[in-house]
Amino acid sequence: MKIYNTLSKQKEEFVPIEPGKVRMYVCGPTVYNYIHIGNARPMIVFDTVRRYMEHKGFEVNYVSNFTDVDDKIIKKAVEEGVDSSVISERYIAECKKDMADLNVRPATTHPKATEEIGGMLDMINTLIEKGHAYVGADGTVYFKTRSFKGYGKLSHKNIDDLQGGNRSLLVSGEDQKEDPLDFVLWKPKKEGEPYWESPWCNGRPGWHIECSVMSKKYLGEEIDIHAGGEDLVFPHHENEIAQSEAANGKTFAKYWMHNAFLNIDNKKMSKSAGNFFTVREISEKYDLQVVRFFMLSAHYRSPLNFSAELMAAAKNGYDRILTSVSNLKYLMENTAVTEMTEDEKALVKEAEGYILKFDEAMDDDFNTADAIAAIFELVKFANQNADAGKSKEFLKALLDEIKMLSDICGLIVEKEEEILDSDIEKLIEERQNARKNKDFKRADEIRDELLNKGIILEDTREGVKWKRA
Ligand code: AMP
Ligand code: ZN
Repeated sequence: MKIYNTLSKQKEEFVPIEPGKVRMYVCGPTVYNYIHIGNARPMIVFDTVRRYMEHKGFEVNYVSNFTDVDDKIIKKAVEEGVDSSVISERYIAECKKDMADLNVRPATTHPKATEEIGGMLDMINTLIEKGHAYVGADGTVYFKTRSFKGYGKLSHKNIDDLQGGNRSLLVSGEDQKEDPLDFVLWKPKKEGEPYWESPWCNGRPGWHIECSVMSKKYLGEEIDIHAGGEDLVFPHHENEIAQSEAANGKTFAKYWMHNAFLNIDNKKMSKSAGNFFTVREISEKYDLQVVRFFMLSAHYRSPLNFSAELMAAAKNGYDRILTSVSNLKYLMENTAVTEMTEDEKALVKEAEGYILKFDEAMDDDFNTADAIAAIFELVKFANQNADAGKSKEFLKALLDEIKMLSDICGLIVEKEEEILDSDIEKLIEERQNARKNKDFKRADEIRDELLNKGIILEDTREGVKWKRA
């Protein structure tokens, strides 16, 4: 498996630090609004990376943070006259809902910055002790950028060019910096802002320190993959490397992965530019599975332009898979033949060739565009070879292959069948009878079966009531 590493600007063979395990950190959103579909790109892309790694047998520890202390959150809290935690908690909940609708699996851990302040104080302390950070007169703590020899290695920038071109980095309120390149680790609170006590001043952390600290706490000092959108390469990830490597004395992350932007009219979709659609808005117009398909139809390092035409093409493509799946299921239910013939076995072998093609594409730096092309070839093959005379076993083998590849992409191709009210009533009646006959095992089985289908039973004095979860 090869991964393009921003650090070396090359595709490199993936060799995990610990065999069989992947430790992966993906920078998450700042939660002051609904996420937009640009933010959804890294979520979908790296969720797919995780799924593919798991398919290859790796155990993946996937950490993605929520930045829940930030100027924009505070601004919104002031506007609404509420505590900033009200804003961040609201949009974390909304973000999780959007993720679920995009079929992005929850991370192993979703740490929040405000719950990790202790670790940040520790790391800042270490940096001061090691001479990589200093405290200004007002209690602001700065990272001494030039003290870290590797600065610029990720973004391939020369530190001296940076200083020449970036004198404006000296922002107001940060005028005690010894060098314009230095960046904030901790800053004093302003009136009305959330703050924490620290040895330097009552204040709050800078943005970069949170990821260094959360990554260390949940994944260890050395991790396999650190990822995010390409706008994070500089300065965010460059600064994370400086902080982590200066504090821990170890290589922070082995592979750095960055997705290209989702654009609109060929400009980056962003909240600050105001040219964005939230995932929620888009979900009113499109099935979010189509959005997921659209995102994966391009390689993650290629810019992708959001347009009605491309979404229509994505819908067509996704529907092609759905149609094939429902056709296979229909044939399965209506065939009298169960066992596979020798000819059918040979066809299944042939179909496995498309799985190999899929894997080859994914092994080549997660080329989802080619991987989806392999799914289409498999679908075409299934459509050509599945007909009324075929055995259940054969049809199921093809169906399972399509489902497996779609699932690695996080594409849901088989909708859960809704259970009808009449069927629920029937099962409840059967459960009542089982209880009357003291067959509690069966009664429990029925309750669990219904629960699996999202039906909750409640035994009341007036009888059994049920509701959909
Ligand atoms: P933010 O909330 O701006 O920190 O962004 C959260 C994540 O979304 C980061 O990994 C960003 O790089 C990524 N991101 C933001 N806008 C876009 C975009 N238009 N296309 C792709 N990724 C984006
Ligand atoms: Zn980060």
